[in-house]
Formats: sequence, C-alpha cells, structure tokens
Amino acid sequence: MLCPKCHAAMEHVVIDNTQVDRCTECRGLWFDLEEHEELKAHADALDTGDPALGSLQNAIDRIRCPICPGDQLMIRMVDPKQPHIWFESCGVCHGRFYDAGEFKDFADFTVAEWFRSLRSTPRP
Ligand SMILES: [Zn+2]
Ligand SMILES: [Zn+2]
Repeated sequence: MLCPKCHAAMEHVVIDNTQVDRCTECRGLWFDLEEHEELKAHADALDTGDPALGSLQNAIDRIRCPICPGDQLMIRMVDPKQPHIWFESCGVCHGRFYDAGEFKDFADFTVAEWFRSLRSTPRP
C-alpha cells in the first residue's frame, strides 16, 4: 500500500492483533473501519512521527483512498471534539488517514475528558 499523501511505501505495524499501516516517509497512519477507536490506548506506540511535519501535511487534503478501487476521493473531515484535527475519511470503506501527531492528539483528548468526567458533579 502506498501513502495517500506522499506516495511513499507504508509499513505494517501490528499492535494488539490489529494491523495498521504507517507511512515510512511522512509517518501518517491509515486505519480501517473503527480501528482508530480500538487502538487509542496504543497511540504513543503507533504515532511516532513529527507533529510539526504532520501539520504541514494538512495542506495536502485532496487525497484518494489507498484501498478502494477507482481512485475514490476521500472526504475532508474535522474532529467534532477537537476541530484543529483535520483528517481524511473514505466514504466507501470508512478508512481514515491521520497525519503524524494527529492520532496521539485525538487519543490524548479522550483520556483527559475521562478524568474531567470523574471530577464533575451533578447540578443541584
Ligand atoms: Zn506519507
Ligand atoms: Zn476506501
């Protein structure tokens, strides 16, 4: 599989019996359907790229799905809870591509939210 952004080769990274593809150049990450949710706890091990480089990759936002036939154009998405995270999603296979640093950012927020929810108290 080739990176949908920079077209370098992607390597298989297996974590928790799930295989993710990571670009050997820009370190972007490809997740098949729902894998990004299942692997949040492993974000540090998966997302090893430079976030500064990753944010530059946001400029490349018209990319084609690396899996679907027929050069399926991916949809440009914004994370609803963290609007600074821009990622691409395929409307057909629902795979997602995160630039370097974005997956860690996505996963971190969830943990922070969870701690905040422990401290919250019901309104009188
Ligand atoms: Zn790449
Ligand atoms: Zn697809």
